[in-house]
Amino acid sequence: MEYRYLGRSGLMVSCLSLGGWVTYGGQVGPEVAQSCMKTAFDNGINFFDTAEVYSGGQCEIDMGVAIRKFGWKRSDIVISTKLFWGGKGPNDRGLSRKHIIEGTDACLKRLQLDYVDLLYAHRPDPDTPMEEIVRAFNYVIEKGKAFYWGTSEWSAQQITEAHAVAERLHLIAPLMEQPQYNMFHRDRVEKEYLPLYKIYGMGTTIWSPLASGLLSGKYNEGVPPDSRLAIEENAVMKRLRDSLESEDGQAKIRKVVAMGEIAQQLGCTPAQLALAWCLKNPNVSSVITGASRPSQIEENVKCLKVVPLLTDDLMESIEAILTNRPAL
Ligand code: NDP
Repeated sequence: MEYRYLGRSGLMVSCLSLGGWVTYGGQVGPEVAQSCMKTAFDNGINFFDTAEVYSGGQCEIDMGVAIRKFGWKRSDIVISTKLFWGGKGPNDRGLSRKHIIEGTDACLKRLQLDYVDLLYAHRPDPDTPMEEIVRAFNYVIEKGKAFYWGTSEWSAQQITEAHAVAERLHLIAPLMEQPQYNMFHRDRVEKEYLPLYKIYGMGTTIWSPLASGLLSGKYNEGVPPDSRLAIEENAVMKRLRDSLESEDGQAKIRKVVAMGEIAQQLGCTPAQLALAWCLKNPNVSSVITGASRPSQIEENVKCLKVVPLLTDDLMESIEAILTNRPAL
């Protein structure tokens, strides 16, 4: 495993990490979550990601049980969670001081932990003043409930505003962003955030590197019944499933098929190629993967061997297929 500094901090995260969205506490039961987490840990993954909203809190509960069960040394793991959607009440959501502080306590209880390493604002909250948000995350860190805070899916402008507030008030600024990044979704990470890496030393822990599995090639011939997109009751998955039928969805599938040919030339799987492509970006601190079974993790960690095979020429062949390079 390779470990990277999380932005301009002293914290090292495995360049591949494991998250629990859709899967843990939802699609699969606690035993499968545990075997996935153990397989990840045994393969050098030290960073695990969850959120208060995942499966209504059950993801944190199941991941917390796994952490306890395996008795991992706390210093050997990096745990992150995210706040924004904590429940139905008017004060259970958003980034008010009240929800950030109460929400953090509730997350820690579900995870059975004294602190998380990373705490994210899961989305921007335009209804709460930035000063209130920055002060609340600063407070949570000063109280020892989290070590670093960051953002998820904030614009470069919003992140810049948070830094300006932190600087003016001598408070702790956000360290990392958690954006979507994969072969089909590139602009923010490759273009919009460019100044932030330089100015603030911002780290990134990127999500959906396989575009929910699409880039593994598993949807090339339709939706397998044991896959995420087959989950009937999940509205996000239904939307993704329906989108495969669209002209845009079909164009994506054609690109995945072409990518499969490149993977074959390299002697790797399409999933390994897609993950290696994300890792090739030096502004990516960690690629958060998802897995509904341990065999996927075993396959995915081998993408590390593919990274050195991605020469400039090969990256150009990939660009020729994707045709979505952000114009700088
Ligand atoms: P991916 O795009 O990597 O999708 C993971 C899913 O793809 C797996 O659950 C599995 O689904 C399938 N898969 C994985 N590996 C393989 C393989 N080798 N072959 C075939 N299928 C495979 O990542 P996620 O969308 O899960 O995102 C990763 C993490 O990022 C989340 O768990 C979460 O922690 C975080 N995240 C953060 C968000 C945010 O707003 N900050 C939003 C979304 C995610 P299956 O077996 O069911 O088909």
